[in-house]
Amino acid sequence: MIKQVKELINKYDKITIVTHLNPDADTIGTALGIYILLKNSGKQVEVVNHGINLPINLDFLPYFSKIKNRINYDNSLIISCDTGSIERLGFDLNERIIINIDHHKSNTNFGLLNIVKSDYVSASHVAYELFKDEYTITKEVATCFYTALVYDTQYFTTSNVSREVFDTASAMISYGIDIDSVVKNLNQRRSLASIRILSSTLNSLELDESGDLAIMVATRDNMLEAGAELLDTVGIVEYGISLVTVKISIILVELDGFIKVSMRSKGIDVSKVAISFGGGGHYNASGFEVSRVTIEELKQSIKQEIKKRGLLNA
Ligand code: 5GP
Repeated sequence: MIKQVKELINKYDKITIVTHLNPDADTIGTALGIYILLKNSGKQVEVVNHGINLPINLDFLPYFSKIKNRINYDNSLIISCDTGSIERLGFDLNERIIINIDHHKSNTNFGLLNIVKSDYVSASHVAYELFKDEYTITKEVATCFYTALVYDTQYFTTSNVSREVFDTASAMISYGIDIDSVVKNLNQRRSLASIRILSSTLNSLELDESGDLAIMVATRDNMLEAGAELLDTVGIVEYGISLVTVKISIILVELDGFIKVSMRSKGIDVSKVAISFGGGGHYNASGFEVSRVTIEELKQSIKQEIKKRGLLNA
């Protein structure tokens, strides 16, 4: 596949690397890693995200400040990172030539070239394996890819972590990256708002009768009171899944005009539920956004969808 990717890249002087809406460390780390290796190979490259709120704790990544919120190049080659569907990029890219680098099971293969490996732990893992033999991996590139991998495996704790993943991480570390700095930046730069919204959201946690479904809500009022943005709610859903009886954990975050839902599971394919609401994701971690519905109505429809699919019957 790298031969086709390289041939396509060689046809373009300008390349636009695009990250997904509500960006996380995987999409940004993957994009910046590719940005650096292509820039070092002599290409003109830009990295973009459609929004204006980037996770600021990632500002230790090289070239983080280069991420812009508009595409400046016309007719450039697009490289999409960690994104399951073209809509999740936020820009109108339907007429553009796209290389799609991802690891989502729900990926819709919207690129001309699709390097989508759903058994890989991060998009950066896919990118590293793709580029490592044909482009130069420097310490800066490895720092970006490693950060993305550590984030998406939640510090090597997700169920898809294998010996190969540790081998890949070890290979990345061999470029001389500062692994202590990566973990400190990912894990010790929380905002006060994130702790405040964590507190009120945990208080809202409800379990169903059997204790296998946990649902939490961050209402608009809670968000305003905590001074929180969507980024401040990242990770709260994991508290639900950490409970001994819980098999599916869900958080509903009420934002201006829409509700963002995140789901986590133990051994249950929650991506099916996310897809049925127009979202996507992985077997154990997926999400979606909806508007024109109340929190209560949405809670009920999600419960019905889980029931209809028999996901908690086993
Ligand atoms: P999170 O719950 O952490 O936002 O996302 C979990 C997984 O689901 C991620 O891989 C993310 O890309 C995917 N995901 C979350 N929200 C959406 C969405 O609105 N649409 C799609 N297609 N995927 C989503």
